[in-house]
Amino acid sequence: MNLSPMMQQYQQAKASCPDALLLFRMGDFYELFHEDARTAATILNLTLTSRDKGENPVPMAGFPYHQLESYLAKLIARGLRVAVCEQVEDPAAAKGIVQREVVRIVTPGTLTDDALLDPRANNYLAAVAPGKNDQLAGVAWVELSTGRFWAGQCPAAKLADELARIDPVECLWPEGLPCPFATSADPGPGKMAITTRPGWIFSLASAKEALLQQFGIHTLEGFGFGEETDQPAICAAGAVMLYLRETQKATLPQLDRLIRHQPGQTLEIDEATRRSLELTRTLRDGRREGTLLAILDRTQNPMGARLLAEWVAAPLTEVAAIEQRLNAVAELRGDPRLRDAVRADLQELKDLERLLARVATGRCTPRDVGGIAKALSLLPGVKARLSERAAPLLNELESAIQLFPELRSRLESALVDPAPLALKEGGIIQPGFSVKLDQLRDLASGGKQWIANFQAAETARTGIPSLKVGFNKVFGYFIEITNTHAQKIPANYIRKQTVKNAERYITPELKEYEERVLTAEDQAQQLEYELFCQLRDDVAGQAGLLRSTAGALAQLDALAALADLACARNYCRPRIVAEPVLEISAGRHPVVDALAAAGTYVPNDVSCGGNEGRILLITGPNMAGKSTYIRQVALMTLLAQIGSFVPAKSATIGVADRIFARVGASDELARGQSTFMVEMTETARILNTATPRSLVILDEIGRGTSTYDGVSLAWAVTEYLHDRVGCRTLFATHYHELTDLAKTLSGVKNLNVAVREWREQVVFLHQIVPGAADKSYGIHVARLAGIPPEVNNRAKEILEQLESQHLDGKPASQRRVIQGKNKRSGEWQMLLFEAPEHPVLEELRKLSVNDLTPLQALKLLEEWKGRV
Ligand code: ADP
Repeated sequence: MNLSPMMQQYQQAKASCPDALLLFRMGDFYELFHEDARTAATILNLTLTSRDKGENPVPMAGFPYHQLESYLAKLIARGLRVAVCEQVEDPAAAKGIVQREVVRIVTPGTLTDDALLDPRANNYLAAVAPGKNDQLAGVAWVELSTGRFWAGQCPAAKLADELARIDPVECLWPEGLPCPFATSADPGPGKMAITTRPGWIFSLASAKEALLQQFGIHTLEGFGFGEETDQPAICAAGAVMLYLRETQKATLPQLDRLIRHQPGQTLEIDEATRRSLELTRTLRDGRREGTLLAILDRTQNPMGARLLAEWVAAPLTEVAAIEQRLNAVAELRGDPRLRDAVRADLQELKDLERLLARVATGRCTPRDVGGIAKALSLLPGVKARLSERAAPLLNELESAIQLFPELRSRLESALVDPAPLALKEGGIIQPGFSVKLDQLRDLASGGKQWIANFQAAETARTGIPSLKVGFNKVFGYFIEITNTHAQKIPANYIRKQTVKNAERYITPELKEYEERVLTAEDQAQQLEYELFCQLRDDVAGQAGLLRSTAGALAQLDALAALADLACARNYCRPRIVAEPVLEISAGRHPVVDALAAAGTYVPNDVSCGGNEGRILLITGPNMAGKSTYIRQVALMTLLAQIGSFVPAKSATIGVADRIFARVGASDELARGQSTFMVEMTETARILNTATPRSLVILDEIGRGTSTYDGVSLAWAVTEYLHDRVGCRTLFATHYHELTDLAKTLSGVKNLNVAVREWREQVVFLHQIVPGAADKSYGIHVARLAGIPPEVNNRAKEILEQLESQHLDGKPASQRRVIQGKNKRSGEWQMLLFEAPEHPVLEELRKLSVNDLTPLQALKLLEEWKGRV
């Protein structure tokens, strides 16, 4: 088939990035062809047309070039990779077909455009070099929009947890190796896209070469990486680097160092626990609203918001480090004037980290540099407010904030405020900054004045009152004279153009001025661009120090946000201790409390660890508030270890090394595993890895199997945690049988949720009280849920029958007569599964064997056999 030259060009571009959707620039449009066109038409709702109509029509879809950003955002959100192929020469100057090139490949993890990024969230690209079996796996992650780049390693078994902490949007994985994290092609909110890449880009040799070249160094030891010991980390970082080269097709000066991630200094939270506790995403739909982070995040600046998310992802474990933050939060909380002033400054501050990365790549606008100037003007105020504070961390931040007075005065005297977005259209530099620029501008505007004078003089000379000097792009300046005055035209006028009712002329004098005016304007714009580039380079030259200042401001923002939260929601400062204890008085669930109507949340106490019993068994009906109570304890511990105040009247919190939450059945079925299998895998993990310093919360173990199985498992798990692990455990269960454990295990304490019955209704008091629950309210809850009254009433009948049959100890024949009496409580769950006794048994019991003849006995046996 004969392809047109343009389609040949298209095919070539497409072949260079076959796994990306290709946007092919044609004039004012981006066009997609073939399968890409079909995909894009569906996702973007574009009209599918065809090119080369005739024998072999090519499916085609497209959109105007200025809509690129919004369409890119939609494609990327679907986890697609998009290659942008631009015209790389001026179509007017092109001989033959215009040159086109793929200038970048946009993927979820390599976004840098502000419009495509959530300012308050990190956008990490990660790569994994999965070691074999029990070797260490390497993990590297980078945020291209800020230039922060880390690498570290972890045991292969902990890879999922490590990735859950980092929370990348895209993860590189070696081709051909089975990937345990692969999800569906459409990742949806909060899921990471897996991109497979050839194995060689994860090799040590290519990694070292790529990294050394990027950083212009001879060894990675300067960054703290051991060439032997850190091989997996280096391999992963190399894969990131090579992938960035492949997709960005540009140098990446914003990546100027690789940070070695030190594991083990933060609270370990596995992936399932993160999900269950809804730290940064809800279980149901993966959104941020309704999560712990959403409640905490009262930051004023995107940098602070991103840092706070990192704090939530990795709380501290050292008492001293936690106290450092708590001291700072306490001081900011206690001084509303300081807090408000700092927060007002931070609100005005731009996103310095992302601005600096754009400056480094040269892709910044004058407005971006203006944003940096604005930030610099705010620094002295912030620094002064932090001087001579009591909290050492605030003093540290004060010293970390540098002022850059020279850079600031240079930017302030140079840039127009607000500076424009366009680079080459002038209007960037203020008058008085450059003598040469001022001269050119004078000439340009003076020239315009000259034209006005010229028009007046010519009108007088010719005596033509309607004589007009005009300008158009084709002919430049001209003199227009209506045909009525054709007789009066002077001899030196040169005719250029005829228009309706008039003629247009030029004179040599007019042309000369035109030349000077136009070139002055062009030259001024060019000079402005050059001056701007110098300013940009001045900023880039200070990038390192500016970045540490930005980091200090982000910390200040996060601390001030926690202080503001403590004030607004009446939180208290926790007492942090090393011993594994928990003493909370009038504690609240940070999220449920914040979302409930004011004053409706019922606070509860917690006492766990020390002499009080390490294992709290909480029984009570569904909907009573068991889950909320146990989660509240986990979240409060986590908050305290971030350095936050906690929602309670008072709290003593023993630092945990790990938090485990095994909570309810979630979306495991969607992941292709049976709920029960997942539940047991998670439970196994807790039993195998919890330490005496860990905090475990369990919600309903063993639900996914038969009742007997479930009770037995829950029982054995509790014993194991009590005898072998000895960690603080809160276990919410509806198995009342378990409450007997408190009789034999000294560390187990029973709690239940108070419920009041009132006119056949159940009222949940949400109050946790000592002792075991004595009744189940499943049927009441069913009524609340809208089960039809007939079903409910029938259920009640059955329940009463079952209860009486099982418990009154009377013969079965009589028992069935006793109906409608409900006097006892206990063991309800098991009852429902127990079949009523067969009547033959009762007859057997009553039988007097001695009174039977052998023949009677045989007959009876035959009859029973028939009945059974
Ligand atoms: P359970 O685990 O016992 O089935 P949940 O913890 O899921 O119960 O709570 C049931 C409902 O009660 C939820 O809507 C929750 O918001 C509310 N709730 C729980 N604890 C409290 C409390 N202390 N104060 C007010 N409402 C609560």
